[in-house]
Amino acid sequence: MSEPSIFTRILDGEIPSEIIAETENAFAIRDIAPKAPVHLLVIPKSEQYRNVVELAAGDPDLLAELVGLANSLAAEHADGDFRLIFNTGPNAGQTVFHVHAHVLAGGLQEASLG
Ligand code: ADP
Repeated sequence: MSEPSIFTRILDGEIPSEIIAETENAFAIRDIAPKAPVHLLVIPKSEQYRNVVELAAGDPDLLAELVGLANSLAAEHADGDFRLIFNTGPNAGQTVFHVHAHVLAGGLQEASLG
């Protein structure tokens, strides 16, 4: 067994972080290093899937649950509009291999992609 991911350790209460939303199979936290006025992470409770490609192939309903949670959080924490980013692979900047969606929101009209 490999070490639990940082997100599993947060979910288990081993690393302090406020869980700001939770569904049956997913939860959300604030990113510790925000890249936008609102920067949240939406994460499956299971770390079975390492990235969004594996998740889409293995459990499309769970992927849809993440998108729905991102949508409600963007309405709750910003004006409802948001960017959903899944860094996929180390060369795309992924550092935690427990699939998670970055939800960026709040005054992004001027911000370019990337
Ligand atoms: P990157 O680090 O390049 O953004 P990922 O897409 O794998 O790569 O995202 C991991 C995210 O997890 C980062 O945005 C990072 O700031 C965030 N993060 C790491 N540790 C914590 C923590 N303890 N609490 C909240 N967010 C965290």
